[in-house]
Amino acid sequence: MADAARIAQEAEALLAPLSAEANLAWWDSQVDATDENGERWARAELAWSDALADRALYASVEHARRNGASGHVRRRLDLLHSLMLRRQVPEALRARIVELEASVDVRFSRHRGVVGGVELGDTEIKKILRRSDDARERREAWEASKTVGAEVADDIRKLARLRNEAARCVGYRDWFALSLATDEVDEAKLAATLSDCDRATSEEFGRWKAGLDERLAARFGCAVAELRPWHYSDPFFQDAPPDAVVDLDPYVDGRDVVGLARRTMEGLGLEAEGIIARSDLYPRHGKNQHAFCVDVNRAGDVRILANVVETHESADTLLHELGHGVYDLGLASDLPWTLRSTHLVATEAAAILCGALAWRRDWLERVLGLSAGEGAELESRLRSARACELLVFTRWVLVMNAFERALYADPDADLDSLWWELVRRYQGVTPPDGRSAPDWAAKIHIAVSPVYYHTYLYGSIVALQLAAALEAEAGGIVDRPEAGALLHERLFAPGESVRWDRLVEQVSGAHLSVDSLARAVADV
Ligand SMILES: [Zn+2]
Repeated sequence: MADAARIAQEAEALLAPLSAEANLAWWDSQVDATDENGERWARAELAWSDALADRALYASVEHARRNGASGHVRRRLDLLHSLMLRRQVPEALRARIVELEASVDVRFSRHRGVVGGVELGDTEIKKILRRSDDARERREAWEASKTVGAEVADDIRKLARLRNEAARCVGYRDWFALSLATDEVDEAKLAATLSDCDRATSEEFGRWKAGLDERLAARFGCAVAELRPWHYSDPFFQDAPPDAVVDLDPYVDGRDVVGLARRTMEGLGLEAEGIIARSDLYPRHGKNQHAFCVDVNRAGDVRILANVVETHESADTLLHELGHGVYDLGLASDLPWTLRSTHLVATEAAAILCGALAWRRDWLERVLGLSAGEGAELESRLRSARACELLVFTRWVLVMNAFERALYADPDADLDSLWWELVRRYQGVTPPDGRSAPDWAAKIHIAVSPVYYHTYLYGSIVALQLAAALEAEAGGIVDRPEAGALLHERLFAPGESVRWDRLVEQVSGAHLSVDSLARAVADV
């Protein structure tokens, strides 16, 4: 066997069991949060990350990659290289970053904002911003949502400096550049795509938001010019306001949500039963309250953790996770371990596509059993709700991305002012008068999931492209096994043997472009 292929195979033989053990330990710690499970997960993570930091292994991968490897072998070595690169920094520096991240993370989970003398969690603060008509109470709740920022801002700046130091150790300008490079995202293309997103949404957003501002001014009895961040329905104005969303809960109440999701996947000809059987789907004391899908061993052990209740959001969430799951199960089994995986943008796109089925008229009629009359009545409202969500979310991602780029370019800059300049520019929100506080630091992703937000937007855009391609080639998605087959063959089976951006072209017939986004937001 050629040397390069042997090195790829040896690295995979070493990493595969460590990855499976870390995934399994993570799963156990999430379905049953005992101290023992937590400790086992921490040990497994450490073993996995130590293997990725191994200098001799990295050197042999790097050498093989640069010396004549081609085709699938080169692709495997490239992916192994990206996986290991971030860990090739002095151990003391790596340890300081991990410690500081953990300490900031803990302060986020412990912190409570105080409203009316009472400590409140994020959910309760959000509830006030969604429901309260009392501007004073809203302002207090909004300000309480930001107090965590002041507590962690200095450490986030410190983290940014340490991450930059790590990035420079492996030859990158800063952490922003390194993160994108190891995720195979081209920085110049990302900047160009985001300015396309800005252009594609700016006018519609301005028009839609002018209407929202008029409604808010009437509701709170003030002038539009007097609206401030606390008049919007969430602390960062990242979600569509409640009055823009269609309430489908009454249709799902009393229904078997897991059965609906199974039925949806069957209609696509995609196998979900095995995933459902291995999953932990209902709320229970001592388990994670969110939802995720994990491919434990890249060999068929795919599971979902969810907290299914009889709401429409729950159906969307379960379909989303099943979208990840059918993708993992659809990876061609003869691919080597490294290629039997998914790029974040591609798997997020498949998941968003599946979750979005629950918002389509044909799903409501065929799977949920609404009459054609009811479906027709809901259709345009659903489209406009979706458009509104995309608009609000896109503007928010523009803030996050521009901010993080600036944070890593200069962690010591006047970030407090920059944040509000960006919020004003992209979201059209007027900063509070005379405010000087690190409000940016209250967004947990900046501290613990750095340079990641564009992945959600890319996933949403690719999901729109996939939906358009399936409409054109399979005549639809719901109850179209042809659509499932097409996804399976062109998107799932290749795994990471094809770079994610080429995969997008291969499945949707076009580069990632904002055309589909521009069309979707026009429905607002
Ligand atoms: Zn997801």
